[in-house]
Amino acid sequence: TPLPAPARAEIVVDLGAIRHNVRRLRELAGVAMMTVVKADGYGHGLAEAAGAAREAGAEWLGVATIDEALALRAAGDTGRILCWLTVPSEDLAPVVAADIDVTAYTLAELDAIRAAVADAGRPARLQLKIDTGLSRGGAPMDAWPDLVAAARRGEQDGAWTVTGIWSHLAASDEPDHPANDAQEAVFHEALAIAATAGLRPEVRHLANSAAAILRPSSRFDLVRVGIASYGLDPAPGHTPDLGLRPAMTARATLALSKPLAAGASVSYGHIWTADRATTVGLVPVGYADGVPRHASNVAEVQVAGRRRPIRGRICMDQFVVDLDGELPAPGADVVLFGDGGHGEPTAQDWAEAADTISYEIVSRIGGRMTRRYV
Ligand code: PLP
Repeated sequence: TPLPAPARAEIVVDLGAIRHNVRRLRELAGVAMMTVVKADGYGHGLAEAAGAAREAGAEWLGVATIDEALALRAAGDTGRILCWLTVPSEDLAPVVAADIDVTAYTLAELDAIRAAVADAGRPARLQLKIDTGLSRGGAPMDAWPDLVAAARRGEQDGAWTVTGIWSHLAASDEPDHPANDAQEAVFHEALAIAATAGLRPEVRHLANSAAAILRPSSRFDLVRVGIASYGLDPAPGHTPDLGLRPAMTARATLALSKPLAAGASVSYGHIWTADRATTVGLVPVGYADGVPRHASNVAEVQVAGRRRPIRGRICMDQFVVDLDGELPAPGADVVLFGDGGHGEPTAQDWAEAADTISYEIVSRIGGRMTRRYV
């Protein structure tokens, strides 16, 4: 059944698709599942994506920031949550009080967590991150022995329990990249050092979506799956067909359709000129709504059931499509991207057109668009 036309523009999120994907991926990985719901659930809604993931059996939720973790608690989530990107100015006491697992990379962070434990009046759940080669967050290998020793002392004096040890891969979407083997080897070394220091973490984890699917040796006790939970391909060209379903559809209502004379140019900078008489339509969303300006003149949308190319530059609030002589009535349905099941482009198609990744397409789309759950 066709969906009702949106008032102007909306994002439709199929929570059943998220549940299906999480179940499928958890069964495939065969270990505990952490569904990554940072960045407003990759644009699908933080609490809603989290709820769907929990219903599908996710034992853990993963977020970047403290605010995201606390928002999950405020929304009523009582399960395990890991948060991994804090800054020195942030107060960690509410995180400890809310029983959220926090990540530490440095001795200074351990000191801050110790102070938060005193304020919160309860021990923390602590996870340690080792930098195995991404060179982003995480303790470098030469600082790791001191970090694990300090973490072990905190465990012995009751400040916290070390619940996890983890790392993150640099090139899991390229299964043959040498960094995968190298990082996994360093991770094993770091785990051995931690074990010698007496740490017995509940979960050791390394894999994101691509690794969880393509690299069984990276699964350890838990996989941290973001993009694939939303039905998008983490490693285009490498991922087998797992029957995952894209959960997001971005739609709008056609604002206007009208004839365009041969030789007329379209939108700012006149980067496209009609080589024949045609018709054009106006779609009332733009880069302020997260439509990438890099998709100007290259991406396609579906208008009243037919694929139509974007012509000229995408503007802040609107863009123009070539209707090739047809004049669908204003109010016609425009699908920017969806699951591709009815001939519409997918977020992956948009990513390729805009020279980016599907993560950026779905996490940035929004702005003034409303969100609806089905
Ligand atoms: N783990 C960490 C630390 C992350 O930052 C992310 C997201 O970038 C993920 C897991 C999930 O990655 P993906 O969406 O590729 O599954």
